[in-house]
Amino acid sequence: MLNRRQFLLTVGAAMGVVVLSDQSPPTLAQPQFSAYPFSLGVASGDPGPDSVVLWTRLAPDPLGSASMPEVSIPVQWEIATDPHMQQTIQRGTAYATPQWGHSVHIVIQNLPPGQWFWYQFQVGQEKSPIGRTRTMPEPGSQPEQLKFAFVSCQHYEQGYFTAYHHLAQEELDIVFHLGDYIYEGDPHPGNPRLHVGPNPVDLETYRLRYALYKSDPQLQAAHAAFPFICIWDDHEVDEDYASNQSQDFTDPAAFRQRRKAAYQAYYEHLPLRPTARSQAGQVQLFRRFQFGQLAEFCCLDNRQYRDDQPCANNGKGGGYVVSACHERLAYNRSMLGKQQEAWLMQGLQNSSAHWHVIAQQQLMAELKFGLETVQGYWTDGWDGYVASRQRVLQYIEQQHLKNLVVIGGDIHSFGVADLKTNFQDPQSPVIGTEFVGTSISSDGLPYVLYALSKKINPHIKFLDSRYRGYVVCHVTHEIWYTHLRIVNSVEHADSTIQTLASFQVNNGQPGAFKI
Ligand code: FE
Ligand code: CA
Repeated sequence: MLNRRQFLLTVGAAMGVVVLSDQSPPTLAQPQFSAYPFSLGVASGDPGPDSVVLWTRLAPDPLGSASMPEVSIPVQWEIATDPHMQQTIQRGTAYATPQWGHSVHIVIQNLPPGQWFWYQFQVGQEKSPIGRTRTMPEPGSQPEQLKFAFVSCQHYEQGYFTAYHHLAQEELDIVFHLGDYIYEGDPHPGNPRLHVGPNPVDLETYRLRYALYKSDPQLQAAHAAFPFICIWDDHEVDEDYASNQSQDFTDPAAFRQRRKAAYQAYYEHLPLRPTARSQAGQVQLFRRFQFGQLAEFCCLDNRQYRDDQPCANNGKGGGYVVSACHERLAYNRSMLGKQQEAWLMQGLQNSSAHWHVIAQQQLMAELKFGLETVQGYWTDGWDGYVASRQRVLQYIEQQHLKNLVVIGGDIHSFGVADLKTNFQDPQSPVIGTEFVGTSISSDGLPYVLYALSKKINPHIKFLDSRYRGYVVCHVTHEIWYTHLRIVNSVEHADSTIQTLASFQVNNGQPGAFKI
């Protein structure tokens, strides 16, 4: 048996080492591994009508303390039109470099639109699992239907990713991940599972946290089954952070270094285009996807550009439920930042899509908590950025934008809401529909908090924090169906799935109703 140090030496010594240039790390010509290098699975994502990203990361010892050798490793890839990889249509070699944690992000081009493909990686003699992916339909086409799921909030300690096992067996074109892909924090015993490694603060520790999450076989199955489109929320970096500001008011320069490491680790572990590489600590993650003329998705980043949460309390920032907080309403406060806000509005105006979907992290509709002990609004959500929400919703109303659907996560609860420019006024017209998905595994807030609050928020039609799962949307020209899917338990990896409730939105009539 080799120990870890010897294993790494074996990797280093057994290969012909070729130096590419002064700047490039040496390359292993014939890599061999003493453990399976595809332990983190495979993934694909960010599909276009003729392209898609294929991802893997070499990690023969994902949770060990030793890192991979400081050499580049050639990874062969292949994409085929059949599940057994017989009809290969493209193949090539990419280099897994130490600079990017030995991940590869291969942008396959010149693919036919609206089709399934299968892909596989090979390094030395080792082959990866086979993944399946799909291109978007041709931009001008009129697809009959789109089926997609959206997910969020997968706390590893708080439960098994059972929901992903079932999601992998759904019939879907795409999956949207709306954030909290990992959770930072120290290990907390007493939960169904335990984090490995300390609270991540630098590249090495974020890589370890992602490696733990990516080792989960049910998460891997979901990634292998569908292309994913991913946007982040707070826990990919730190709870309730806002731009350069941590909730503990860490020195912003130091926090920015931490954020930079977290952003890099996020890129390294997800099937993103290389444009999502962190540059000077910034990443442009907001982007658009078009599913023919049927639907367009504007995917937003609610974290990187936002103003700090209003009405911080006793030196601790982040979210609070506040009843009296004028700062919450300040006209210049922004959730999205000026540039992203303008980009969103421009995109909505230019789009000829039938359904306009805004995919973002949080509950957009107003939610007033009306319990004896808890009264007011949650400042980390859109309720802490009222003017920002107002600008977006008023723009949508002014443009007479039809068929707006907002999807979100973050609150570990299902939610269905009418979107309006005045939530206080029952006569204010409904201008869009909102669906919020519950968490994959993260604990929900006490049900009573939402059950009682729902009564004083008539625009909120459904709110239930008791279940873990995901949301499936079946979209046609005339009807949008939403199915809230729930697992019976996250305390075991093998629980069953069922539908909690289904909703319908009709073409041209914003607002969902239960079916
Ligand atoms: Fe969460
Ligand atoms: Ca969150």
